[in-house]
Amino acid sequence: MKFILSVVIATSSLFAAVSAHAIVKRAPPAGPHWDYSGDKTGPDHWGLLDPAYVTCESGMQQSPVDINKESLSRFVHCAKKALTFDYKPVKDAVAHFNGHTVEIDWTPGAKTHNNSIAIGKKQYNLIQFHFHTPSEHRINGRHADAELHLVHRNPVDKSLAVIGVLLQAQARNVPFFHYLTALQKKVHADKHSAVAAAPGTTSAIIEELLKDSVCAGTQPTSEEATKVDYPLPSVDFEPLVRALKGFTPRWEYSGSLTTPPCSENVAWNVMHDPYPIGLDQLRALVDLQGYNARDIEDSRGGSSHK
Ligand SMILES: [Zn+2]
Repeated sequence: MKFILSVVIATSSLFAAVSAHAIVKRAPPAGPHWDYSGDKTGPDHWGLLDPAYVTCESGMQQSPVDINKESLSRFVHCAKKALTFDYKPVKDAVAHFNGHTVEIDWTPGAKTHNNSIAIGKKQYNLIQFHFHTPSEHRINGRHADAELHLVHRNPVDKSLAVIGVLLQAQARNVPFFHYLTALQKKVHADKHSAVAAAPGTTSAIIEELLKDSVCAGTQPTSEEATKVDYPLPSVDFEPLVRALKGFTPRWEYSGSLTTPPCSENVAWNVMHDPYPIGLDQLRALVDLQGYNARDIEDSRGGSSHK
């Protein structure tokens, strides 16, 4: 056991050293700057920022949506049949703030299992997962505290399928999200969190946590934060998959990316059951990424909560 532990530590510190160089090489985000709050760069202007982003403005199947009686009667389908998937632990992943969201990604290839889901006859491989605070999808008009997006891509036509998991704060931290507080600590290098302590786990918890960043119209995390990587020798999805009963039941619909370029034909699978996230972990997310949820889109001409 001692031996295994020391190997893990050695591997992770080696990985940290390697990834410190890898960060420098990481390509800057493509396309012009966009954000969630700017007068000229916020969501209402995304479609005008670049010809490549025009779908944000003109798309007819934009995401996120409110899942309610109306959308369920028109374009959202409640799937109760098991989703076909093949998930195993992912090796040598990295958690980092990319300027918009806290993302966990890894280099696909021989070293790690290709996690996948199948929709119809089409297979999609898991390429990364990331977070939104508060949730982007709403249920009957209500946000969840956060939303996890597991992004899958078809290797042939590059089309996407996303699993959206609504996250609900609870007092106790959740093992699956352990890297969130660890990344926050690394970003602040022992400085105190920029987010004030929030009261107990009430349904208004995310409003309370986001109050400061929404009012200030800024993201609380500096550009320096994008240079910090937290290495994850292994990410085991088993507790998440088990709690979500194999990603079933879920709401399915055809939508879009919720960030520029807002490309459509994204197969959305929003989980019916929420998954817990620890209060400290939610606080770490808000501290790192601030408010990063696109508003409900009414591009299909239905009622909206804008
Ligand atoms: Zn997302």
